[in-house]
Amino acid sequence: MNTAQKFGLVIVAAGRGERAGSPADGPKQYRQIGGRPVIAHTLATFLSHPSCGEIVVVIHADDEALYASATAGIAGADRVRTVSGGANRQASVRAGLEAMAETAPNHVLIHDAVRPFVTLEIIDGVLEAHNAGSLAALPAVAVADTLKRGDAHGDVTGTVPRDGLFAAQTPQGFDFAAISAAHAKAAAESDTSFTDDCAIAEWAGLSVRLTPGHPSNVKLTTAEDIAMANERLSPAPLPDVRTGNGYDVHRLVPGDHVTLCGVEIPHDQRLDGHSDADVGLHALTDALLATCGAGDIGDHFPPSDPQWRGAASEIFLAHAAKIVREAGGVIMNADVTIIAEAPKIGPHRQAMRAALSRILEISIDRCSVKATTNETIGFAGRREGIASIATATVVFGERT
Ligand code: MG
Repeated sequence: MNTAQKFGLVIVAAGRGERAGSPADGPKQYRQIGGRPVIAHTLATFLSHPSCGEIVVVIHADDEALYASATAGIAGADRVRTVSGGANRQASVRAGLEAMAETAPNHVLIHDAVRPFVTLEIIDGVLEAHNAGSLAALPAVAVADTLKRGDAHGDVTGTVPRDGLFAAQTPQGFDFAAISAAHAKAAAESDTSFTDDCAIAEWAGLSVRLTPGHPSNVKLTTAEDIAMANERLSPAPLPDVRTGNGYDVHRLVPGDHVTLCGVEIPHDQRLDGHSDADVGLHALTDALLATCGAGDIGDHFPPSDPQWRGAASEIFLAHAAKIVREAGGVIMNADVTIIAEAPKIGPHRQAMRAALSRILEISIDRCSVKATTNETIGFAGRREGIASIATATVVFGERT
């Protein structure tokens, strides 16, 4: 065959879809998957094939409006003709072939509308068999499951060897004249027992070629099939990653130690405040609360409340972490920067990271403590106070 010649296409879309949920949901070829009707996905793939010529879609007489709205806006949909289907799939295919009799393409593909995951590769495989001289070809996949025969009581009566067994898919491709004649002959003999068109071709004595199918080229039959197809086409939700920041300052007054990120460091000054005035933990507490819009440290631990006098600030941080977890958050990272002229933070950095790891219940590699001087300028540079800024990253999932 001349490879430039276009193939004709019959899409069978006349089924009522009784197995796919309640009748109120309508035939499955018009159900939405991935934001578009099933048949729109199917048609779009064929319309994008450069060798696709005349297209006839066989629809149920009651479905004209459904079809029109399902295919509105598909590029090239105006190339598609519809005809009314018959009493069963076989009669519907025959109606599609007869609608093409006048133009009579050399080669016709017959496809089920409810196989929306057909690919250009599968189509090409069938076309290649035709180019190589086959009068009939179908995509198929080797049966992977072990096959059991069972009886009406649910008992196994035997294991069927799966060697040489293939599951048939569509599109099935045919010499147009040969399949039209085979369908006409079957109709004349009132034989409506065929489940696919290759079965009719076999019955009519045509040899049928197997071509590569794909496991994902499934036929959507049940409500579960529709749900799974929808899930497959729906983009994965974006991860709910949130970042919060916090800032705190406390005044330095004469004393003998400061507490920073949970670690007591001997010093000739202390931080003045209601609690232990740990600016690092206070800033980080605010950063964590910020990731779930839970206010700030003052909302949860008012400085006016005497019970927090001299309190260890890890209480505040642990409480914020609990609020985050109860909101469905997983703390991914905590980062604290301390702005102080003195004391030196470096020697205590590991102990501070370990404290954060313990209080937040996350691994130490997710806990960061950094320090900088303020170059002797400003309040921090003049040793009037110590400041801290903190950032927390939290991934939120389902609320627990
Ligand atoms: Mg504070």
